[in-house]
Amino acid sequence: MSSAASLLQGQGSHSAAARPVRLPPEILNRRAGQRRQMLAVQGVSYALITSVLLVYCYAGTVPIIVPSAYFLSGIGLVAIFVVLSEAHFNDRFEDHYLTIFQVAGHVALQLCFLLAVPGIGFAFLSVVFLIFGFGALRMTSRQAIITWTLTMIGLAPIFLLTSTPIGLPVATQTERVAAMLSYVLTIGQCAFVGLYGSTMRKMLYDRSFELKAAYKRIEELAELDELTGASNRRSIMRMLEEEIARATRGGSPCSIALIDLDWFKRINDAYGHPTGDEVLRTFSITMFANIRSVDRFGRYGGEEFLLVLPDMDAGQAMRALDRLRAIIADLDWSAFSPGMKVTISAGVATLKPNETSDTFLARADSALYASKAQGRNRITSA
Ligand code: GH3
Ligand code: MG
Ligand code: MG
Repeated sequence: MSSAASLLQGQGSHSAAARPVRLPPEILNRRAGQRRQMLAVQGVSYALITSVLLVYCYAGTVPIIVPSAYFLSGIGLVAIFVVLSEAHFNDRFEDHYLTIFQVAGHVALQLCFLLAVPGIGFAFLSVVFLIFGFGALRMTSRQAIITWTLTMIGLAPIFLLTSTPIGLPVATQTERVAAMLSYVLTIGQCAFVGLYGSTMRKMLYDRSFELKAAYKRIEELAELDELTGASNRRSIMRMLEEEIARATRGGSPCSIALIDLDWFKRINDAYGHPTGDEVLRTFSITMFANIRSVDRFGRYGGEEFLLVLPDMDAGQAMRALDRLRAIIADLDWSAFSPGMKVTISAGVATLKPNETSDTFLARADSALYASKAQGRNRITSA
C-alpha cells in the first residue's frame, strides 16, 4: 500500500478553487507522480470491469461492441485526465486531483452504459459504488452532496421513466461466472479503497506525530546556544524573570551568579579560536554535570554565563559557586594543550524584596568585576 500512501501526499484542502500560490517544482512533480499512480489504478479498474463484460460477451449476453466500447470510453476518459495532469492543468486548482470532475465523468459514463445496456446494468451500477468510495476519500462534504445529487438526477429517469429491466443475468453457467466475477472484483476494489483510506489515516497520524516531534525540537533549538548547549541569552533571561516571580510569590530565596572565564582572550590567542570554542563547550558540560536540575544555566554573552539558583540564599550560593570554581580550576585541561589552565570568576547576588532583574543582574555584575579586580579565579558576593 505504499503507492496508495504516496497518492495521498500533498492532500490538503479539497476545494477546486483556483490556487493563488505557486508551488515549488519538486512539489508539483511529486503531485504529478501521485496523480499518475491514481490514474493508473483507474485504468486497471476499467480493464478489470471490461474482463467481466468480456465474459458476458462470451456467454452471448452482450455483443463484443459493449466491452470494446466500455474499455475504449473508460480508458479515453482516463486519458483525458492524464493529458490534463501531464500538462499541469490540475496545478491551477487547490484540489489538484480534480476529484469532482473525475467522479462526475466516470459516473456519467456508467449511467450511459446503464442506459445503453440495461440487461447487465448491475455491473455498471456497482462501478458507481466504487467511484463514490474512491471519490469520498478526497471530496469535501459539499462536493459529495453535489455529485450524489447529480448521480441521483441521472439515475432517477433511468429507474423511474423507463420500464427496461435492469439486470444481472444468471441464466447460464457462464453468466453466473460473469455475475460472480462482477461482485468479487467490486468487493476486491472496495477493499482496496478501504485499505487506501486506512493507510491515509495512518499516514496522517504518523505525519502529525513527526510534526509534533519536529516542532518540539525546533522549540528546543530556539532556546539553546548552538556552541555550548546552554540556554541562549533570550531563554536564560526569561528563566530569570520566571524564577524572580516565583521567589517573590513564594517568599523563597533566589540567587544568581554571573560567571566569566578568566583571561579567555589569551586562551584564544595562545591556542586558537577553535580550541577556545572547545574550552567553552567543556566548561558548559562541566557546569551542567555539577548543578542541580532546578538550576538554570545560560550563555549571557561571549564567555560570560548566567547561573540562576532557585531556593538558595547568599551563603548557599557562595558555597555552590566556590565548589564550581574549584571543579573548573582542577579540571585537567592538558588534553587541549599541555599546560593549559582555565579558571572562572563569578559575582553572586541574592534577590532583594521587590528587586527587578536589571538591578539584580547589575549587582552580580559589580561583584564579578570585583572578583576580576581582586585577581580572578574567585567568587565575590554582591
Ligand atoms: P577577563 O579575565 O578580564 O575576563 O579577560 P578575558 O580575556 O576573558 O576578557 P575579554 O572580554 O577581553 O575577552 C573575552 C574573549 O572571549 C574575547 C573574545 O574573542 C572571546 N570570545 C567570545 N566569544 C567567544 C566564542 O564563542 N568563542 C571563542 N573561541 N572565543 C570567544
Ligand atoms: Mg573573560
Ligand atoms: Mg567577558
